[in-house]
Amino acid sequence: MTKTASSKKPAKSASPDKSKSAEPTPMMAQYHVLKKQAPDCLLFYRMGDFFELFFDDAKAAAATLDIALTSRGAHGGNPIPMCGVPVHSAEGYLARLIKAGHKVAIAEQTETPAEAKKRAGSKALVARDIVRFVTAGTLTEENLLDSRNENRLVAVAHADGQTGLAMCDISTGRFELVAICATQLGAELARLSAKEIIYSDRIDAPELVEMGGVAREAREFDSLNGEARIKEIFGVATLDGYGAFTRAELAAADGLITYLEHVSRGNLPFLAPPRRYEPAYHLLIDPATRENLEILTGSNGARKGSLLHAIDRSVTGAGARQLAADLSAPLTDVDAIRLRLELVGWFHNDSLLRGDVRESLKSIPDLARAIGRVVSGRGSPRDLGQLRDGLGNARMLRERLVREPDLPRMLNDLLPDLDGHGALVDLYTRALVESPPTEKQAGGFIARGFDAALDELRDMAGNARRAVAALETRYRKQTGITTLKIKHNAVIGYFVEVPPRHADTLMAEHSGFTHRQTLAGAVRFNSSELHDEAVKIAQSGAHAIAAEDAHFEELSALAIQSRDAIARSAAALARLDVAASHALQAAEHDYCAPQFADIPMLDINAGRHPVVEAALSAAGDTFVANDACLRPDDRLWLISGPNMGGKSTFLRQNALIILLAQAGAYVPAQSATLGIVDRLFSRVGASDNLAKGRSTFMVEMVETAAILAQATPQSFVILDEVGRGTSTYDGLALAWAVVEAVHETNQCRCLFATHYHELTRLAEKLDALSLHHVRAREWKGDLVLLHELAQGPADRSYGLAVAKLAGVPPKVLARAKAVLAKLEAGKAATGGFAAGLDDLPLFAAMMHDDEPQADPLASALGEVDVDALSPREALEVLYKLKGLLEQD
Ligand code: ATP
Repeated sequence: MTKTASSKKPAKSASPDKSKSAEPTPMMAQYHVLKKQAPDCLLFYRMGDFFELFFDDAKAAAATLDIALTSRGAHGGNPIPMCGVPVHSAEGYLARLIKAGHKVAIAEQTETPAEAKKRAGSKALVARDIVRFVTAGTLTEENLLDSRNENRLVAVAHADGQTGLAMCDISTGRFELVAICATQLGAELARLSAKEIIYSDRIDAPELVEMGGVAREAREFDSLNGEARIKEIFGVATLDGYGAFTRAELAAADGLITYLEHVSRGNLPFLAPPRRYEPAYHLLIDPATRENLEILTGSNGARKGSLLHAIDRSVTGAGARQLAADLSAPLTDVDAIRLRLELVGWFHNDSLLRGDVRESLKSIPDLARAIGRVVSGRGSPRDLGQLRDGLGNARMLRERLVREPDLPRMLNDLLPDLDGHGALVDLYTRALVESPPTEKQAGGFIARGFDAALDELRDMAGNARRAVAALETRYRKQTGITTLKIKHNAVIGYFVEVPPRHADTLMAEHSGFTHRQTLAGAVRFNSSELHDEAVKIAQSGAHAIAAEDAHFEELSALAIQSRDAIARSAAALARLDVAASHALQAAEHDYCAPQFADIPMLDINAGRHPVVEAALSAAGDTFVANDACLRPDDRLWLISGPNMGGKSTFLRQNALIILLAQAGAYVPAQSATLGIVDRLFSRVGASDNLAKGRSTFMVEMVETAAILAQATPQSFVILDEVGRGTSTYDGLALAWAVVEAVHETNQCRCLFATHYHELTRLAEKLDALSLHHVRAREWKGDLVLLHELAQGPADRSYGLAVAKLAGVPPKVLARAKAVLAKLEAGKAATGGFAAGLDDLPLFAAMMHDDEPQADPLASALGEVDVDALSPREALEVLYKLKGLLEQD
């Protein structure tokens, strides 16, 4: 069932007589001119109270929005497909179209029908123009954005052998530049996780195509232009104050600004001064590692199941966005990390203060997004109200915090940013009503007492409205018609209405009423007094709205002047929220402050995996904490043990602890000391990437190759079952060689989980490699997984026991046992796995053999002559039987 967003008659044709003509109507001609300017967008063509879409745009939108596809007129003899959405609810439809991957061009009427008539006569077509392109990376509307996620646009350019990236989130003004070498592009794009990417068409990088980037002409990415644009936007003579930008960065900035100007039709949205992102100061995490570690999103792409979801206790959208940004780009500078940790520690130690701050933060609206909308010209009175409330509460929060003794260093830096808006807040408090509306058209947002002239206009309108009410009473008395009413509608304004049976009274000469309309159930009149009052209402109302409009512009301009300071306040509040979030998580889940060492080590006492722990505790289970202790002379741990034993969990938990520590958070462990990690790599599990045309094994090898090429002695690597995607011998050989290379060449800290027992022999020749296993026990034939890490190799792999746990049928298990016995015997005798398989009966033959399998327990019992046993022998038999039971 399709719904229609339009209340119009679906097939209503505006000009049926033209439907057979080959000539397009003037309106369609205008449509085509506009559509040519937006070939890659769906064109929203404003017609009265609707945005209409035509041709293929209509088909695509109707399918995405599930609304009726109708038609209008004809083009080349065929009806023109059409659908429409009401202007007042367009935002919701826009959101769905953008989410579905479309871009939308909004063509508005740029004059009123009256103006058009004046310009070109009665048949004039109203002028229309594209006022904005709506794209995923250039949204500012509250309803179209996710409050807890940044909305990033990234531009990529090339210059001087470098790749430059310019990133902005125009909803908050964040603007960042970075220069990298081409090989890091994938990692950088993964960090930025942009909603939209544009790049110079001179760049030939598969990553950009894979991530849905759109190429634009290279001339839009010019470094000299970029520099000039930044100087012009921020009114500075030199960029030195912002950093020493490379040509690649400036070229990317040019591309970004040019695109922003294009989509906003010259009305450049909010950009804060550019900041340089220094890859060297950040932990490098490649795309595969981000995905494997499920940092911001879980395996299904949703937030749930991710590290972020497990630890995010922030109370504001801005805090959640900052936390995600921190986890995406952990630091490598110990001092900077310690600054963050100090603030977390301060909140950790004082739960009362923490609670107070979180309560205050909850009452602070999203300042960054409000100022973003105001600067881009899409602000509403509500946004100004949010700035008033947010900045006012920020000032109170500062007053609360500044009284505290021993402020952490970072707080000393942040507190001044929370203040400095006193004059603006006071002005807004006087100027605005308590809850300003989201629309400014209807007025009513300027507080009484702020502008005497405006109050007078409102009084006039109010008095006139009261006069109209008084007229109604008087007319009823005067005519004796109790059902007489004075009404108003948008077409004819105010009028007197009576039922038809009383019409004659008002029709009478000298009655004082003039006839206007006769309807089936009512007759409508005017009177000179009513006309006079109506004019007063209309004029004073229009003047009042114009006056409010002017105030809105002035008030907005003041906020725009302070935009950078407001953005700094917003950033300071976000930092406080993040620190308090980490502190609360640490207090409630027993996290500790990480310590840092000068050598490449990792000493984690009773570490836990935050996501697995949360899932287990939700199910009433307990997570088993484990230690990790890597040092320069024992930096490669080879971990074996049964499937499901917890190897992957252990590997990941250590990587996540490092990531959290370097992001400036407390970590899920009793204690944690680490040497700073420069690059984090994770190769966990086998996953196909068929979309990229790579098989499981290919993906595994590509990622392994990247690790071997890039890991340094300061890096931390987790490798989980490398080689499992190919034949046993090839896999074992590769795993063997990879372990050797990691040990000898990369010399990084590494946890390597494997099922290849043969690898344990490497411990004999590689000094810094040690063997560990996750413990398991068999109890009465069942496997008990202890999830506990211990020294030394696993005694066996328990694969069949896990299969039993998983419910593999007993017959298949019995068969697997037989095959395993043969394989092992063959291997022992000839050194070959497959030797001896030839004399193994086929599965079907073996399973159709209805002979019951001998039960060792039953046969042992059968052999016992109970009467002949002494008490001591009976005890021995009991022990023997119990032993058999446990072996099974
Ligand atoms: P495989 O070799 O099959 O990949 P694995 O040894 O890597 O298995 P994991 O995937 O890490 O095992 O863990 C399997 C499950 O065991 C987890 O989903 C979790 O429920 C549980 N588990 C893992 N580690 C622990 C732990 N330390 N404490 C409690 N439960 C754990």
